[in-house]
Amino acid sequence: MELSPQVLAGWLRDFAADIATNEALLTDLDRQIGDADHGANMVRGTKAVAGLDPADFADARSFAKKAAMTLISTVGGASGPLYGTFLLRLAGALPADGTIDQAGWSTALRAGVQGVIDRGKAAAGDKTMLDALIPAVNAFEAEPEHPWQAAAEAAATGRDATIPMVARKGRASYLGQRSAGVADPGATSSALMLAAAARTLA
Ligand code: ADP
Ligand code: MG
Repeated sequence: MELSPQVLAGWLRDFAADIATNEALLTDLDRQIGDADHGANMVRGTKAVAGLDPADFADARSFAKKAAMTLISTVGGASGPLYGTFLLRLAGALPADGTIDQAGWSTALRAGVQGVIDRGKAAAGDKTMLDALIPAVNAFEAEPEHPWQAAAEAAATGRDATIPMVARKGRASYLGQRSAGVADPGATSSALMLAAAARTLA
């Protein structure tokens, strides 16, 4: 498929719209196991990214890098640098020739997820955004017929799987056992990011 700044902007604008629609949900989840700022953080950051004009960028990579830096400087909290690193590593793995195939997307998604792991030092089962992102990239690779749909579904399943988990990373981990029973806010916003990808990139 074509890989242009416009294609990536389409994805990230769809994500921003979904975040805005779900701001209250993200705030409420973070109120229960964090500090109630994940909705506001994500709205601020994704709105800033949606305001970037893809026509100002020579290629998808430079657009994605700017979007990543924008997330890092506007989202704040723990999630800002993590989302920013996801997109920055993804950007660095994008092919430079203006097209991308399924293997290329798989490499880029993997690089993004590895960036979150490197930066946050969390693992699967720690009740973080990784519990949506890791299953998503695994499903993307396992379902070549409809990879984006599979990734979005796996992210949603991964989000739901965080409900009984006890947090071992981030603010929610301060609650210990009391962090169980609520979906992780970052896994919830990550599932929205994959759902937007399935609608715009498939
Ligand atoms: P803060 O926790 O600083 O208030 P946010 O509320 O915006 O930041 O984001 C919280 C989310 O960040 C959590 O729900 C979790 O998904 C994610 N998160 C926190 N720490 C880590 C980490 N070390 N690795 C991966 N994700 C993390
Ligand atoms: Mg928070």
